[in-house]
Amino acid sequence: MAGNGEIALLALGSNLGRRHHCLSGGRRALARGGQVVVRRCSRLYESAAQGGPPGQPPYLNAVIEVVSTLSPEDLLARCQEIEREFGRERRERWGARTLDIDILDFAGRVSGNPRLVLPHPRLHRRSFVLLPLLDVAPGWRHPLLGKTASQLAACLQDGGAIRVLDEEW
Ligand code: ADP
Ligand code: MG
Repeated sequence: MAGNGEIALLALGSNLGRRHHCLSGGRRALARGGQVVVRRCSRLYESAAQGGPPGQPPYLNAVIEVVSTLSPEDLLARCQEIEREFGRERRERWGARTLDIDILDFAGRVSGNPRLVLPHPRLHRRSFVLLPLLDVAPGWRHPLLGKTASQLAACLQDGGAIRVLDEEW
């Protein structure tokens, strides 16, 4: 089990198909096998799609805190397998997707490897990441910017339309 594991923060998003099913199914799939244990979950949010092709449907978003005995690379591979399991096809960057799982932070590590950039390079500018992150880890500190999630959220300028949809998901 993930008793000796490291803490990671993951962002889940879906704006295609059975969005709720993909998000909660993705969370359940991550925990399969016991190498990843889900410790905390944000509320469920809905946000207008930002960037990418025009006319995209809105997203469901959530952030979870996990304990992982997988390495960061293996955790990313697991996330990508689960994205495929839930029917994701990569066509265009930032296009609509059934399930997106991003690693926001892995135990405070810093990496510039384009296959896995840590912390996630855009997390501090996105309300659909920072607001759910506040639910699970308001005191989490950005390893490069040195600010907490709460401080980063106070500086948000993306004007993103986002609302709480549900307490549980
Ligand atoms: P995005 O999440 O930016 O909309 P994708 O999910 O299609 O785009 O991911 C594109 C690539 O980003 C992946 O192939 C992955 O290797 C890379 N990537 C780099 N850093 C991360 C990270 N922290 N979490 C998830 N994917 C990442
Ligand atoms: Mg992604």
